[in-house]
Amino acid sequence: MSDRVVIVGSGFTGFWAAAAARRVGGEAVTITMVAPEPTLVMRPRLYEAEPQALSVDLKPLLDSLDVTFIADHATEISVSEDQLTLGSGDVLAFDRLVVATGSIISRPPVPGAGEAYSIDTQSDAIEFYLRLAQIAAESTEPSIAVIGAGFAGVELALELRDRISVHADPAPLSDFESCLWTKRL
Ligand SMILES: Cc1cc2nc3c(=O)[nH]c(=O)nc-3n(C[C@H](O)[C@H](O)[C@H](O)COP(=O)(O)OP(=O)(O)OC[C@H]3O[C@@H](n4cnc5c(N)ncnc54)[C@H](O)[C@@H]3O)c2cc1C
Repeated sequence: MSDRVVIVGSGFTGFWAAAAARRVGGEAVTITMVAPEPTLVMRPRLYEAEPQALSVDLKPLLDSLDVTFIADHATEISVSEDQLTLGSGDVLAFDRLVVATGSIISRPPVPGAGEAYSIDTQSDAIEFYLRLAQIAAESTEPSIAVIGAGFAGVELALELRDRISVHADPAPLSDFESCLWTKRL
């Protein structure tokens, strides 16, 4: 295997690419991961309650795999020069590059769709979680529309009734608010 492996993204794909590169390449390869934070967000579970808990600190795992982590984002890839440019302006040379930057929500081109809540990212899911708490506090028979009947939409729709019940109990919410406040600090 070539010497320098650079991986962009710290989700499931990026992390498993790093583990596989170390397993296959052994000590002969240097592995560098670039992502805004050394955390893996469990996006498939973001339809659940308490989304603030759905991320994992990758730093200890990356350290044990001897993977260098750079907190930044990729801004340009030059395939002809085998170089990756970062937001800081730094340039990383690579022999192999793994682009594992995931996916983003596709909002339908209809008026108002941009203002709807989403569970695409952890911060989106936390925002939605807080809104659900308000809804539970304000209404005994809330009406919520889920747009999209793929896996994420169906999972969310099936979970909503239980989640509204959880929110109707103020104790977990106050715990959550203090947790979110700590996170913001
Ligand atoms: C609510 C929901 C439910 C889902 N359910 C399922 C499911 O049941 N089964 C399933 O297989 N999939 C599901 N998915 C899709 C899910 O997102 C993927 O399976 C999985 O998270 C993909 O992992 P990934 O590593 O490819 O991307 P992501 O987890 O999206 O990770 C992308 C990484 O790239 C980083 N990144 C992005 N741009 C840059 C950049 N320019 N520079 C540096 N880093 C960058 C991000 O910060 C992140 O670390 C679901 C998604 C959602 C939102």
